Amino acid sequence: MPPAATVAAGHGPDRPPGAVPAELLRRLRARTGGDTDPVTHVERVPARPGEQAPWPQWAPEELRAAFARRGVVAPWRHQAEAADLAYAGTHVVVATGTASGKSLAYQLPALATLLADPRATVLYLAPTKALAADQLRAVASLELDGVRPATYDGDTPRAEREWIRRHSRFVLTNPDMLHHGVLPGHAHWSGFLRRLAYVIVDECHTYRGVFGSHVAHVLRRLRRQCARFGRTPVFLLASATSGDPATAAGRLTGLPVAAVTDDASPRGGVTFALWEPPLLPGDQAPGAGGQAGGAGDLAPVRRSALRETADLLADAVASGVRTLAFVRSRKGAEVVAATARRSLDEAVPGLGDRVAAYRAGYLREERRELERALLHGDLLGLASTNALELGVDLVGLDAVLICGWPGTRASLWQQAGRAGRSGDEALAVLVARDDPLDTYLVHHPEALFGRPVEATVLDPANPYVLAPQLACAAAEAPLTPADLDLFGDGAKEAVDSLVAAGALRQRPTGWYWRHRERPDVDLRGEGGAPVCVVEAATGRLLGTVDGGSAHFLVHAGAVHLHQGVSYVVDSLDLDDGCALVHPEEPDWSTHARDVTSLTVASIRSYVDAGPVGLFLGEVDVTSQVVSYQRRRISSGEVIDTRPLDLPARELRTVAVWFTLSPESLAAAGVEPADVPGALHAAEHAAIGLLPLMATCDRWDIGGLSTALHPDTEAPTVFVYDGHPGGAGFAERAYGTAAQWLRATRDAIAECGCEAGCPSCVQSPKCGNGNNPLSKPGALRVLDVVLANLPAPGAALPRQGDRRSE
Ligand SMILES: [Zn+2]
Ligand SMILES: [Zn+2]
Repeated sequence: MPPAATVAAGHGPDRPPGAVPAELLRRLRARTGGDTDPVTHVERVPARPGEQAPWPQWAPEELRAAFARRGVVAPWRHQAEAADLAYAGTHVVVATGTASGKSLAYQLPALATLLADPRATVLYLAPTKALAADQLRAVASLELDGVRPATYDGDTPRAEREWIRRHSRFVLTNPDMLHHGVLPGHAHWSGFLRRLAYVIVDECHTYRGVFGSHVAHVLRRLRRQCARFGRTPVFLLASATSGDPATAAGRLTGLPVAAVTDDASPRGGVTFALWEPPLLPGDQAPGAGGQAGGAGDLAPVRRSALRETADLLADAVASGVRTLAFVRSRKGAEVVAATARRSLDEAVPGLGDRVAAYRAGYLREERRELERALLHGDLLGLASTNALELGVDLVGLDAVLICGWPGTRASLWQQAGRAGRSGDEALAVLVARDDPLDTYLVHHPEALFGRPVEATVLDPANPYVLAPQLACAAAEAPLTPADLDLFGDGAKEAVDSLVAAGALRQRPTGWYWRHRERPDVDLRGEGGAPVCVVEAATGRLLGTVDGGSAHFLVHAGAVHLHQGVSYVVDSLDLDDGCALVHPEEPDWSTHARDVTSLTVASIRSYVDAGPVGLFLGEVDVTSQVVSYQRRRISSGEVIDTRPLDLPARELRTVAVWFTLSPESLAAAGVEPADVPGALHAAEHAAIGLLPLMATCDRWDIGGLSTALHPDTEAPTVFVYDGHPGGAGFAERAYGTAAQWLRATRDAIAECGCEAGCPSCVQSPKCGNGNNPLSKPGALRVLDVVLANLPAPGAALPRQGDRRSE
């Protein structure tokens, strides 16, 4: 612990730029005192001067003056470029960094059009109400005559809705409201839609996976309603930086979209440190040697990222540095804050009061109070979930600690971007968790600081999304054959299935919705009826958990968090769709484990690479949650494993898989007895690394490996989307297989452990208790695959498409 005297030093304008990050990093590094430096890489992202462009010729003086009043003298080059494209009628996505002024890029053409054409209208979509409210304030503050911006969402009073539909020319809403309110009520919106010039889709990278696939069809339904009035609005999208934003935006809208990615906004300097918690000495690792909890139990051989982050937070606060720590779970944020408070109080009683936890469940006033305290320096350290990520403005931080890879580069930069906005240099530290992807990233800084590879993926062809969306479309207006093109691949099959199920009736003029009530489709829900979470003592409904994850999250004995309050599940009644809980804050977390079997239903596409085969296709997965582990929150130590009695569930989804010939494995030195462990270890690490290629969470995907699969007749590793019908993750894995598996191999090879650990080949959700696993075998398996698979971009050997049922 640094001396208390440094507390008074504080942060002030008298320090030269760059002093805070350099000094703080030196201090944090010095503290560890071990043999190995926890810092694997330091990247100094230099300050960048901005590059301005003249106002476009078409931008009216009134609008330039309004922006000037807001302090914008001229647009940055990327803003002007995107605005020009959109004004000329090209669909465009601007994909640049946090705080690069993406909103000006869409406000400029949209508002210029509203001023030039007094009848035109604009629809703005945000993923959250908070973001729409921010945008409303920004547009309203321009005080442009006749624009009358207004939000239209679930909170809009009935009395105001009609006025907005009739008079507002800049309506701000969200995809859920578009789906539930605007499109079903299109008759009321005809005046607005027939004059619609632009559709602005803000933060469009948040529309990914199954939710993104739903939103893609909501946008197609919007395009269809506009087309009925002869309108083809221009789509203007804003995205965080990602791999291939034009393709993602094209999939989301169903239109060709141009991408503007060259960020010309100025940026403060950031010193970015990658931090790998040290391996614990053997005698300190709980469960080391496999004695404590039996073979295959997770032994946390590294210092936990939470503990490390808490110490870094305490050190930063003791140095008077305003620091924000991002932690993935709410419980984790509480642990980090409490641990930091405790160690600060031990050093200087009372100092712990300057650290707090922040989470989404807080009331608005509580959140504002914390934000104010941090801004004014009464509070120096805050541990938060990513609740701060969107929409909330928090400025004046010196350092940001990121506990564990937040899942995407977009989130990473958004979180790091919280520091140093006032122009001062800031420090950002990414603390690796014991996860293969984190291990890879702290050893491969180029994956973070070079060109992005992770793409926002969605799969509008998912039949489990397409059919309900077509039902919604038919309920809005009968479907015609031309509409099938609009909704894309699989639309005809989906319509046929709806006819067969009695939901649609086919007539000469098209397909008609047969029911009086509208189809009940939730954009964010999936996988069966939701399970209610009810407090047993009071009967109070706390919330719902979607049916697909109920077995995992609210089984008997599970620790369930609701708005930051911890509950323990007493019982799960699947017939009633109800989990009874009581409030309790145990110091362990629970982790469900399942067993899985899989059959191949069809092959969509394959690469025949000699002894290695790579496939993409549909599979049927049967899985059963059979037990759960209790793990100490602070250390990750496994307390015990308890059995569960839950029924098996079926999932038809999309998978990527690779096969190897037994001869190639033998030639690579994998003994037959070692094959299952080698494949299993490769599977775990491959699942862990897929989020590098696609914006998914490792919990969105599942896997299975076997030394002989009856359908492939070969040693096989499957990785599948954990959502009915697929969500685009396996497809992305197939498309980037060589890169993905190379990164997987590197992550395993670079982990400093001997026989495999949670940072490389162990998985927290393994149904087989991480047994068997062979780390050296996994490397040999991946070497065989990589030696045979064509390199990225190379011409593929024999490959094909084939469909069967
Ligand atoms: Zn390891
Ligand atoms: Zn496993």
